[in-house]
Amino acid sequence: MSGPIAATCEVKVGGAWQGVTLKEAHAKHGGTDKRCPSCHGRVIVSGSYSGPFKLILSHRKNHRGCPLTPKSFRGEAWPHPEALA
Ligand SMILES: [Zn+2]
Repeated sequence: MSGPIAATCEVKVGGAWQGVTLKEAHAKHGGTDKRCPSCHGRVIVSGSYSGPFKLILSHRKNHRGCPLTPKSFRGEAWPHPEALA
């Protein structure tokens, strides 16, 4: 199964972005804004129940300039047009 390779994301804690593992984001930061550690676009962390359980990072809006979305990445990284600040 192919999918995003990211193992971490960033969550906003006390007004500052902080890198956490997907596991932590899923367990402790369910209602918190999350962004991609690479392009800073908004992401969601969801569990995959088909096959062995794993957590998946996916972008709300796909971004061609994000190396964490290998399917659509065009080889050059640039910030998400709707990056969370
Ligand atoms: Zn990204």
